[in-house]
Amino acid sequence: MNYCSDCGSDKIEKEIPEGDHRLRFTCKDCGKIYYENPRLVVGTIPIFENKILLAKRGIEPQKGKWNLPAGFLEMDETSEEGAIRETIEETGAEILDLSVHTVFQSDSNHLYILFLANLKSNKFNTTPESTEIQFFDYNNIPWNELAFTSNEFALKSFISKENNTKNIYFKME
Ligand SMILES: [Zn+2]
Repeated sequence: MNYCSDCGSDKIEKEIPEGDHRLRFTCKDCGKIYYENPRLVVGTIPIFENKILLAKRGIEPQKGKWNLPAGFLEMDETSEEGAIRETIEETGAEILDLSVHTVFQSDSNHLYILFLANLKSNKFNTTPESTEIQFFDYNNIPWNELAFTSNEFALKSFISKENNTKNIYFKME
């Protein structure tokens, strides 16, 4: 970063603040310390009558691949609220009965929480973020066209019913 967003100074240096143990961008004029932390991604496995709703991504990355609805948690939003919002934004579908299904660390900077959820009805629609929305039978998941490893892990553990508190957490190697 080049400028302090608090005072506008360009005297930004990386240093370890007193009592800290990591390098942080610090403003030498006003003393502001900039903390960078991993980002949280929330999403859902949306179910309706033993089918899973997937969305085909209309935006990069992985444009054209099938995806569980998910996205970055916003400020002042609970993880459930974020998951509900992302599901509406990407599929137009309303969900309820959320329960945590998979926690997934895709790399050191992104942590995913995927909720299992039921659709309120079979209503859904394409959105600016998704070019196609479709129900898939459990035995007909487009495994070779999934956008992300996190999707594959969550769907496999859901369909095999092997998911439990012992393997809810998955870390990509
Ligand atoms: Zn400053």
